[in-house]
Amino acid sequence: MGLQAALHLLYPPQCLTCDALVTTDFGLCGPCWRETPFITGLVCDLCGTPLPGEDPGHTVHCDDCLTLARPWARGRAALLYKDNGRRIVLALKHGDRLDLATPAAGWLRQAAAPILAPEMLVSPVPLHWLRFLRRRYNQAALLSAALARLAGLDHCPDLLTRPRNTRSQEGRSREGRYENMAGAIRPHPRHTARMRGRKVLLVDDVMTSGATLAAAAEACLTAGAAEVSVAILARVAKQP
Ligand SMILES: [Zn+2]
Ligand SMILES: [Zn+2]
Repeated sequence: MGLQAALHLLYPPQCLTCDALVTTDFGLCGPCWRETPFITGLVCDLCGTPLPGEDPGHTVHCDDCLTLARPWARGRAALLYKDNGRRIVLALKHGDRLDLATPAAGWLRQAAAPILAPEMLVSPVPLHWLRFLRRRYNQAALLSAALARLAGLDHCPDLLTRPRNTRSQEGRSREGRYENMAGAIRPHPRHTARMRGRKVLLVDDVMTSGATLAAAAEACLTAGAAEVSVAILARVAKQP
Protein backbone atom coordinates (compact mmCIF):
# COMPACT_ATOMS: atom_id res chain seq x y z
CA MET A 1 0.00 0.00 0.00
CA GLY A 2 1.39 3.39 -0.95
CA LEU A 3 1.80 6.15 1.57
CA GLN A 4 -1.05 8.06 0.04
CA ALA A 5 -3.44 5.11 0.24
CA ALA A 6 -2.40 4.58 3.86
CA LEU A 7 -3.07 8.21 4.63
CA HIS A 8 -6.49 7.93 3.06
CA LEU A 9 -7.37 5.14 5.48
CA LEU A 10 -6.34 7.34 8.39
CA TYR A 11 -7.73 10.55 7.00
CA PRO A 12 -10.37 9.89 4.36
CA PRO A 13 -10.27 12.85 1.96
CA GLN A 14 -12.83 15.47 2.70
CA CYS A 15 -14.61 17.78 0.34
CA LEU A 16 -12.70 21.07 0.19
CA THR A 17 -15.68 23.17 1.15
CA CYS A 18 -17.86 20.96 3.35
CA ASP A 19 -17.54 17.92 5.59
CA ALA A 20 -18.58 15.31 3.04
CA LEU A 21 -16.09 12.58 2.21
CA VAL A 22 -14.90 12.44 -1.38
CA THR A 23 -13.08 9.77 -3.33
CA THR A 24 -10.22 11.88 -4.67
CA ASP A 25 -7.73 14.30 -3.19
CA PHE A 26 -8.22 18.00 -3.81
CA GLY A 27 -11.80 17.45 -4.81
CA LEU A 28 -15.23 18.77 -4.12
CA CYS A 29 -18.28 16.67 -3.35
CA GLY A 30 -21.12 16.67 -5.90
CA PRO A 31 -23.27 19.38 -4.29
CA CYS A 32 -20.26 21.69 -3.67
CA TRP A 33 -19.04 21.10 -7.22
CA ARG A 34 -22.42 22.23 -8.54
CA GLU A 35 -22.28 25.28 -6.23
CA THR A 36 -18.85 26.27 -7.55
CA PRO A 37 -19.03 28.48 -10.64
CA PHE A 38 -16.16 27.10 -12.72
CA ILE A 39 -15.73 29.07 -15.93
CA THR A 40 -16.12 26.92 -19.04
CA GLY A 41 -16.94 27.47 -22.70
CA LEU A 42 -16.28 30.64 -24.63
CA VAL A 43 -14.32 33.27 -22.63
CA CYS A 44 -12.83 36.71 -23.14
CA ASP A 45 -9.20 36.18 -24.18
CA LEU A 46 -8.03 39.08 -21.98
CA CYS A 47 -9.84 38.59 -18.69
CA GLY A 48 -11.41 35.13 -18.82
CA THR A 49 -15.00 36.32 -18.36
CA PRO A 50 -17.46 33.82 -19.81
CA LEU A 51 -19.17 34.99 -22.98
CA PRO A 52 -22.39 33.77 -24.55
CA GLY A 53 -22.39 31.74 -27.71
CA GLU A 54 -20.22 29.16 -29.39
CA ASP A 55 -16.50 29.41 -30.08
CA PRO A 56 -16.30 31.52 -33.25
CA GLY A 57 -12.81 30.19 -34.04
CA HIS A 58 -11.09 33.51 -33.39
CA THR A 59 -10.15 35.54 -30.31
CA VAL A 60 -13.01 37.39 -28.62
CA HIS A 61 -13.04 40.11 -25.97
CA CYS A 62 -15.70 41.20 -23.49
CA ASP A 63 -17.15 44.74 -23.49
CA ASP A 64 -14.91 45.83 -20.57
CA CYS A 65 -11.76 44.68 -22.34
CA LEU A 66 -12.83 46.43 -25.53
CA THR A 67 -13.12 49.75 -23.67
CA LEU A 68 -10.41 49.58 -20.97
CA ALA A 69 -6.66 49.58 -21.46
CA ARG A 70 -5.38 46.08 -20.80
CA PRO A 71 -1.59 46.18 -20.97
CA TRP A 72 -1.39 42.39 -20.84
CA ALA A 73 -1.73 40.05 -23.83
CA ARG A 74 -4.02 37.25 -22.66
CA GLY A 75 -5.78 36.11 -19.50
CA ARG A 76 -7.84 33.34 -17.99
CA ALA A 77 -9.86 32.88 -14.80
CA ALA A 78 -10.89 29.64 -13.12
CA LEU A 79 -14.01 30.71 -11.25
CA LEU A 80 -16.64 33.37 -11.07
CA TYR A 81 -16.49 35.37 -7.85
CA LYS A 82 -19.85 34.23 -6.49
CA ASP A 83 -21.38 31.40 -4.45
CA ASN A 84 -18.75 28.82 -3.59
CA GLY A 85 -16.21 30.63 -5.82
CA ARG A 86 -16.44 33.63 -3.52
CA ARG A 87 -16.27 31.50 -0.38
CA ILE A 88 -13.11 29.75 -1.61
CA VAL A 89 -11.39 33.07 -2.38
CA LEU A 90 -12.31 34.55 1.00
CA ALA A 91 -11.19 31.44 2.89
CA LEU A 92 -7.82 31.60 1.14
CA LYS A 93 -7.52 35.34 1.66
CA HIS A 94 -8.34 35.37 5.35
CA GLY A 95 -5.94 32.60 6.04
CA ASP A 96 -8.15 30.01 7.60
CA ARG A 97 -7.73 27.69 4.60
CA LEU A 98 -4.24 27.93 3.15
CA ASP A 99 -4.63 24.29 2.08
CA LEU A 100 -6.95 25.53 -0.68
CA ALA A 101 -4.01 27.06 -2.56
CA THR A 102 -2.89 23.83 -4.23
CA PRO A 103 -6.27 22.60 -5.46
CA ALA A 104 -7.18 26.14 -6.52
CA ALA A 105 -3.91 26.34 -8.46
CA GLY A 106 -4.90 23.06 -10.14
CA TRP A 107 -8.14 24.62 -11.37
CA LEU A 108 -6.24 27.71 -12.41
CA ARG A 109 -3.75 25.64 -14.35
CA GLN A 110 -6.58 23.99 -16.22
CA ALA A 111 -8.26 27.30 -17.03
CA ALA A 112 -4.97 28.92 -18.06
CA ALA A 113 -3.76 25.95 -20.14
CA PRO A 114 -4.42 27.70 -23.49
CA ILE A 115 -2.22 30.67 -22.55
CA LEU A 116 0.67 28.92 -20.79
CA ALA A 117 4.07 28.84 -22.50
CA PRO A 118 7.04 26.73 -21.36
CA GLU A 119 9.43 29.68 -20.96
CA MET A 120 7.08 31.74 -18.79
CA LEU A 121 8.16 33.27 -15.52
CA VAL A 122 5.31 33.08 -13.00
CA SER A 123 4.88 35.77 -10.36
CA PRO A 124 2.15 37.01 -8.00
CA VAL A 125 0.61 40.45 -7.89
CA PRO A 126 2.35 41.93 -4.81
CA LEU A 127 0.83 43.05 -1.54
CA HIS A 128 2.17 46.11 0.23
CA TRP A 129 4.60 45.00 2.96
CA LEU A 130 2.41 46.38 5.75
CA ARG A 131 -0.49 44.31 4.60
CA PHE A 132 1.87 41.39 4.14
CA LEU A 133 3.07 41.72 7.75
CA ARG A 134 -0.45 41.91 9.06
CA ARG A 135 -1.56 38.87 7.14
CA ARG A 136 1.81 37.08 7.14
CA TYR A 137 1.33 35.74 3.62
CA ASN A 138 0.19 36.83 0.18
CA GLN A 139 -2.57 34.58 -1.09
CA ALA A 140 -1.63 35.44 -4.69
CA ALA A 141 1.92 34.23 -3.98
CA LEU A 142 0.62 30.93 -2.57
CA LEU A 143 -1.41 30.47 -5.74
CA SER A 144 1.41 31.46 -8.09
CA ALA A 145 3.93 29.18 -6.36
CA ALA A 146 1.53 26.22 -6.58
CA LEU A 147 0.62 27.00 -10.19
CA ALA A 148 4.29 27.25 -11.22
CA ARG A 149 5.03 23.95 -9.48
CA LEU A 150 2.10 22.15 -11.11
CA ALA A 151 2.86 23.56 -14.57
CA GLY A 152 6.65 23.11 -14.31
CA LEU A 153 7.35 26.83 -14.80
CA ASP A 154 9.87 29.16 -13.16
CA HIS A 155 8.53 31.12 -10.20
CA CYS A 156 9.64 34.42 -8.72
CA PRO A 157 7.67 35.43 -5.60
CA ASP A 158 8.95 39.03 -5.55
CA LEU A 159 9.35 40.04 -9.16
CA LEU A 160 7.26 43.12 -8.35
CA THR A 161 6.99 45.31 -5.27
CA ARG A 162 4.35 47.65 -3.95
CA PRO A 163 6.27 50.48 -2.30
CA ARG A 164 3.24 52.68 -1.83
CA ASN A 165 0.46 51.50 0.47
CA THR A 166 -2.56 52.20 -1.70
CA ARG A 167 -5.81 52.60 0.08
CA SER A 168 -8.43 49.90 -0.36
CA GLN A 169 -10.00 49.57 -3.78
CA GLU A 170 -13.34 48.82 -2.19
CA GLY A 171 -16.12 51.30 -2.79
CA ARG A 172 -14.24 53.09 -5.58
CA SER A 173 -15.53 53.63 -9.07
CA ARG A 174 -13.65 52.03 -11.91
CA GLU A 175 -11.90 55.34 -12.66
CA GLY A 176 -11.07 55.73 -8.97
CA ARG A 177 -9.57 52.26 -8.88
CA TYR A 178 -7.29 53.00 -11.83
CA GLU A 179 -6.25 56.34 -10.31
CA ASN A 180 -5.54 54.74 -6.93
CA MET A 181 -3.29 52.10 -8.50
CA ALA A 182 -1.38 54.24 -11.00
CA GLY A 183 2.34 53.74 -10.43
CA ALA A 184 1.73 51.80 -7.21
CA ILE A 185 3.55 48.67 -8.40
CA ARG A 186 7.22 48.61 -9.44
CA PRO A 187 9.62 46.00 -10.71
CA HIS A 188 11.90 44.69 -7.97
CA PRO A 189 15.35 46.12 -8.84
CA ARG A 190 17.00 42.80 -8.02
CA HIS A 191 14.84 40.88 -10.52
CA THR A 192 14.46 43.20 -13.48
CA ALA A 193 17.20 41.38 -15.40
CA ARG A 194 15.28 38.15 -14.92
CA MET A 195 12.21 39.34 -16.79
CA ARG A 196 13.97 41.21 -19.58
CA GLY A 197 12.85 39.76 -22.91
CA ARG A 198 10.80 37.11 -21.17
CA LYS A 199 7.13 36.17 -21.04
CA VAL A 200 5.65 36.77 -17.60
CA LEU A 201 2.51 35.23 -16.13
CA LEU A 202 0.99 37.32 -13.33
CA VAL A 203 -1.24 35.54 -10.82
CA ASP A 204 -3.88 37.08 -8.58
CA ASP A 205 -6.77 35.76 -6.55
CA VAL A 206 -9.48 38.16 -7.73
CA MET A 207 -9.93 40.53 -10.64
CA THR A 208 -12.55 43.27 -10.36
CA SER A 209 -11.83 46.29 -12.58
CA GLY A 210 -8.38 45.03 -13.57
CA ALA A 211 -6.66 48.20 -12.26
CA THR A 212 -4.24 46.29 -10.02
CA LEU A 213 -3.36 43.81 -12.75
CA ALA A 214 -2.86 46.67 -15.21
CA ALA A 215 -0.42 48.38 -12.83
CA ALA A 216 1.44 45.09 -12.30
CA ALA A 217 1.58 44.31 -16.02
CA GLU A 218 2.87 47.79 -16.79
CA ALA A 219 5.63 47.37 -14.21
CA CYS A 220 6.74 44.15 -15.96
CA LEU A 221 6.72 45.81 -19.39
CA THR A 222 8.67 48.77 -18.03
CA ALA A 223 11.29 46.31 -16.80
CA GLY A 224 11.54 44.85 -20.30
CA ALA A 225 9.27 41.80 -20.15
CA ALA A 226 8.49 40.58 -23.68
CA GLU A 227 4.83 39.95 -22.91
CA VAL A 228 2.58 39.66 -19.87
CA SER A 229 -0.35 37.28 -19.39
CA VAL A 230 -2.61 36.98 -16.36
CA ALA A 231 -4.15 34.05 -14.49
CA ILE A 232 -6.87 34.87 -11.98
CA LEU A 233 -8.53 32.51 -9.55
CA ALA A 234 -11.86 34.32 -9.57
CA ARG A 235 -13.28 36.96 -11.90
CA VAL A 236 -15.86 39.43 -10.64
CA ALA A 237 -18.18 39.56 -13.63
CA LYS A 238 -21.35 41.38 -14.35
CA GLN A 239 -24.28 39.02 -14.35
CA PRO A 240 -25.48 38.42 -17.90
ZN1 LIG B 1 -18.83 19.46 -0.29
ZN1 LIG C 1 -12.54 40.70 -20.85
